[in-house]
Amino acid sequence: MAANLHLRSGRDPERDRKVQVAVPLPLFQEFTYRVPDRMEKVPAAGTRVLVPFGHRKLVGIVVDGSPPVTDLELKDLERVLDREPILSPQLLNLGQWVARYYFSPLGEVLQSMLPPGLMSKPASSVSRAWPVKTRMSIWSTDPSRGPDLTPRQRELLALLAARKLPLPVSRFVREAGSTHRTLKALAARGALVLKPERVYRSPWLDSDPPPPVTRHSLNPDQSRILEEIRRRLTSGGFHSMLIHGITGSGKTEVYLNAISQVVRSGGSALILVPEIGLTPQISNQFRGWFGSEVAILHSGLSEGERFDQWLRIREGKARVVIGTRSSVFAPVPDLRIAIVDEEHDSSYKQGEMPRYHARDTALKRGQLEQALVVLGSATPQLEIYHGSRDRGRPRAEILPRRVLDRSLPQVKVVDMRLEFQKHGKALILSDLLRCSLQESLDCGDQALLLLNRRGYSSSLLCRSCGSTENCRNCSISLTYHRDRNRLLCHYCGFTRSLPTRCRECGKRYIHLLGEGTEKVQEAIQDLFPEARVGRLDRDTVRRKGRLQQILSDFRRGRTDILVGTQMIAKGHDFPGVTLVGVLSADQGLRLPDFRAAERTFQLLTQVAGRAGRGERAGRVVIQTYYPNHYSLKAARRQDYALFFQEEIEFRRRFQYPPFSALVSLLVQGRDRNSTLDLANRLGRRLLAHRKRVSAQQRLRILGPAPAPLERIKGEYRFQILIKAVRRSEALGIVRSSREDLSRKGVSLKKVSVDVDPVNLM
Ligand code: ADP
Ligand code: ZN
Repeated sequence: MAANLHLRSGRDPERDRKVQVAVPLPLFQEFTYRVPDRMEKVPAAGTRVLVPFGHRKLVGIVVDGSPPVTDLELKDLERVLDREPILSPQLLNLGQWVARYYFSPLGEVLQSMLPPGLMSKPASSVSRAWPVKTRMSIWSTDPSRGPDLTPRQRELLALLAARKLPLPVSRFVREAGSTHRTLKALAARGALVLKPERVYRSPWLDSDPPPPVTRHSLNPDQSRILEEIRRRLTSGGFHSMLIHGITGSGKTEVYLNAISQVVRSGGSALILVPEIGLTPQISNQFRGWFGSEVAILHSGLSEGERFDQWLRIREGKARVVIGTRSSVFAPVPDLRIAIVDEEHDSSYKQGEMPRYHARDTALKRGQLEQALVVLGSATPQLEIYHGSRDRGRPRAEILPRRVLDRSLPQVKVVDMRLEFQKHGKALILSDLLRCSLQESLDCGDQALLLLNRRGYSSSLLCRSCGSTENCRNCSISLTYHRDRNRLLCHYCGFTRSLPTRCRECGKRYIHLLGEGTEKVQEAIQDLFPEARVGRLDRDTVRRKGRLQQILSDFRRGRTDILVGTQMIAKGHDFPGVTLVGVLSADQGLRLPDFRAAERTFQLLTQVAGRAGRGERAGRVVIQTYYPNHYSLKAARRQDYALFFQEEIEFRRRFQYPPFSALVSLLVQGRDRNSTLDLANRLGRRLLAHRKRVSAQQRLRILGPAPAPLERIKGEYRFQILIKAVRRSEALGIVRSSREDLSRKGVSLKKVSVDVDPVNLM
């Protein structure tokens, strides 16, 4: 009878006792487990479980989906690790989208959505308890016990009566000059109650007061945009919006006001920023406005701090979450607004599995959770801007002016070919930049100098035989670092000493070529001996705390000139800077990457935007050998529209995004022949499926060809690039081709798929 009932309602009791589990391994499938009878309930989707896998145990997550019908003997779940699902249905849904869209194994995606450690600890050390931190606290007292106590004990109790509880035992012991033992004795007599209290490890000290804030009254442009945001927040549902605001137009102030409304109405906000360490200002501003409602997530936190921030967010205690890329997965309940600041920044794209783009994932999340998504940039990524013009999505709002009617800096472009003719040699500083620096120093102003190359010199050339010193593991030249007096590979970390003789011909004509930031700092110091010259790049900030130190020295005017890589171009707001110099604007332009012009324009515009943000107007000097390139012409006029016009034509002509979707496949391996062989097989499978699916001009397959960096860390790299009018068609043939090869027993471990790649090197 019971069985019949089940049949009628279409349910199979055995099937209900099975679950699908995603495990954190590079596998494109989920696994079915039986829920043993000793477990009362079938764990819900989103719950962590411990499962036997081969001869080890793994922490996996129960996911939706019906188990395939199979005759195989199923293994039992070993343990359920969470009382409630650790991932909400929405986040699980988002994870499934990421896995599908970015061609990533679901288990690995889910793992990267959780704080580190929750899925990756060796199974033996996984416990049911979350890694929360507690301390022993006094929760209540019972004065009626007074008569049983010694006078000293009564005295302590009286002290406690005046305090706010719960109170950490250690603090009270210190303040009252008592001991832990005395308090335990009091507890034993029932005079007070001791219990553990949750504490949240915090990336800033509890004692740190939130920094003071200045609230500006918004100018008409800011108010208009805030009004647009409010309208959408009130109407509810998914909307997307692009704030295209020039540098210094006050975007952050608009975000803060919008979030304020969200928090007042009981909702939560998520703010993504490219790099928090570089712009501590922004987190300070948020703390100033929202105090303890703010949670900050980034990779600089300890595991414990990260977990606690995550827990505070999940419990609804921190409703303003600010963080880098992976914060797009923060367990914010009731998300109303997600803001992606500097949406064009390439750090939003993860360079390894899962290769998601945080901005696009935020847009998807907004859709799933019916929230408003706001993108902000002075130099929007071409695809985003094109979408806003072409389809009206995201809707674009413009902040065309700087705050307080401050002017954009005046930009001058110096043709370094003429400088070379004039001096008969290549100098680091053009006459114009040298004079401008002198003037800036004379006025007591500050200057930034950008050179996007760290180290002392970028290569080593033997002037006798012409050989260069390359990395042993990578197809790249070694950079000389003077502070360590060694040659260093920026890709794999390989180092060797500076040779005194050429390794090829044995002669002593070794020459250092191409200057980096280290050398520029030295040269500037030589030219302006009285100036205080600082340097900001990955080398100078390696030691903890150095980054903050360099930034705060500059902010306080203890440094006159700051030399640095693109790290100085990020959203800093240094009001004392009136001069920005770009030493070589061309480096990026020469890279074989279709985004080269866009990146160059973005970098130049962003760094130029650091000048003249205070009361005095700013100037920018850009040195280049290609003054006629459109990205330089547009940067000189700080004119995004002009750049867009040229760039979109280039993209159209060569069918690059936004006129196609790209999928890049990279095949890597130590042995060149077998790697190439695998790349060729993959290429042939792709072609075969292409023929079935689409016309050649709608789905192009380029390669396999050696990647621009043919070898990294000892592995050869071959690339296949797919350009598709429809992304789904590209993904389809990739999927089928991979399946073909897997069926034939070919391992695909060394094949990585990158959807919407940002880096094609
Ligand atoms: P953006 O991110 O657009 O480059 P910011 O948000 O950093 O610009 O703002 C630049 C500076 O202008 C900040 O110091 C900010 O405090 C200030 N600011 C913002 N809005 C106003 C306003 N309405 N009036 C005066 N100052 C403002
Ligand atoms: Zn190397």
